[in-house]
Amino acid sequence: MSAERPFWETTDLADMTPDQWEALCDGCARCCLHKLQDQASGRVYLTMVACRLLDREICRCRDYRRRTERVPECLVLSVATLPRADWLPETCAYRRLLAGEHLSWWHPLVSGDRETVHQAGVSVRGLALSEEDVHPGDWFRLILDEAAPPPKRPLI
Ligand code: SF4
Ligand code: SF4
Repeated sequence: MSAERPFWETTDLADMTPDQWEALCDGCARCCLHKLQDQASGRVYLTMVACRLLDREICRCRDYRRRTERVPECLVLSVATLPRADWLPETCAYRRLLAGEHLSWWHPLVSGDRETVHQAGVSVRGLALSEEDVHPGDWFRLILDEAAPPPKRPLI
């Protein structure tokens, strides 16, 4: 007898309900970091500077429902926009599923615990700075070496 497989393993991204789609987000908030683009190569770099609406402790948007009104450049991730968002970290659940990969042990849907994304060092907790504290001219000094460093393994 085998256990029933979870929805993210059996449902295409395009066929997910809005609730399933939202549940896929691991809460890392890496997509809420400001980005810089190299004009020559086109490559996009994540910085350690976070959007002004991000609660940097809980890694949640403070006004998710009205986020695009308040921050017009905020990306609304969907099946249509996901393929173009190649700057998303390799840990991003949407990116992983699009690439045919599994969710990692620290994803809250797998662990059953919203803290594991922070414990694994995947989220921006303890990393992100507020855009209100950093002049835009200094953002290039705060580029992350890697968009998604390898997560730490669980201790148990
Ligand atoms: S990078 Fe992906 S998983 Fe992380 S908060 Fe953004 S949408 Fe969610
Ligand atoms: S508006 Fe909210 S969801 Fe959008 S980038 Fe800012 S904190 Fe993140």
